[in-house]
Amino acid sequence: FSEREGVIWLDGELRPWKDAKVHVLTHTLHYGLGVFEGVRAYHTQERGTCIFKLKEHTKRLFNSAKILMMDMPFDQDAINEAQRLVVRENGLPEAYLRPMCFLGSEGMGLRADKLATHVMVAAWDWPSYMDPEARNRGIKVRTSSYTRHHVNIAMCKAKANGQYINSMLALREAIESGAEEALLLDNEGYVAEGSGENFFMVKNGVLYTPELTSCLDGITRATVIELANELGITVREKRITRDEVYICDEAFFTGTAAEVVPIRELDGRAIGEGSRGPITEQLQGMYFDSVRGKRSQNPQWLTEVV
Ligand code: PMP
Repeated sequence: FSEREGVIWLDGELRPWKDAKVHVLTHTLHYGLGVFEGVRAYHTQERGTCIFKLKEHTKRLFNSAKILMMDMPFDQDAINEAQRLVVRENGLPEAYLRPMCFLGSEGMGLRADKLATHVMVAAWDWPSYMDPEARNRGIKVRTSSYTRHHVNIAMCKAKANGQYINSMLALREAIESGAEEALLLDNEGYVAEGSGENFFMVKNGVLYTPELTSCLDGITRATVIELANELGITVREKRITRDEVYICDEAFFTGTAAEVVPIRELDGRAIGEGSRGPITEQLQGMYFDSVRGKRSQNPQWLTEVV
């Protein structure tokens, strides 16, 4: 992956992909204190390639950095421009973007000061995060034996690098057991989120999602809530137990990489009919139409790269 053609934006300039390197003493590599984003650009008929909710992602990146007390050497406009640039310069009609801020090799140890924040933005073609069939068929999910972060152990509002150890342990365990994704519970046993997605369920026509405590404040989550509001669907944020999920009518995950993915089974129990439910299908359709500029509502969600 590191030997590909193309360019990566690093600390203000474009470098050949192969040369976008850091030293082995890079602080973030040792202790995991860094912040990042996952962003997508889609091809649209009328406006060419557009980045979906670019400003919202950049804002969350800066909020994550603030929470972790990382000094940012660039402003938000510069990072927005860097993201447009990498998609454009790599000639990508659609792309997954990865901005990341990390501490450099200016010092070592937990007490190191004078550490500089470095910023990189890469973009590549990543059509489907899960099995391409997953979006129609739905996925099998397993409740994780790993608890999601406690709000006073990890800063859950930050999309921080080190937080993903927990996600990867949960995901690997789920895949090992024959499922496609994990459902993580919080330290009190309530549903938190997937390894890299927010969770929604439908019961009697009402859409439920966990409150923003131990889950990430997902940008796709916010989009789906806005789309549901547009349809007049009642949306409620509440604590959800795993057995409520077993007997709900529909369930799905949302995330920039995963997009909107139906859940057809949790812990061996079929969800609803065991296939994508009608409200899930409707919201998923609206989501894909939004990101590809096929709806007239909310043109501000898209930013042209050219
Ligand atoms: N939760 C976690 C743990 C994630 O990594 C992600 C992906 N960023 C999400 C939820 C979904 O967030 P978003 O919709 O902003 O991509």
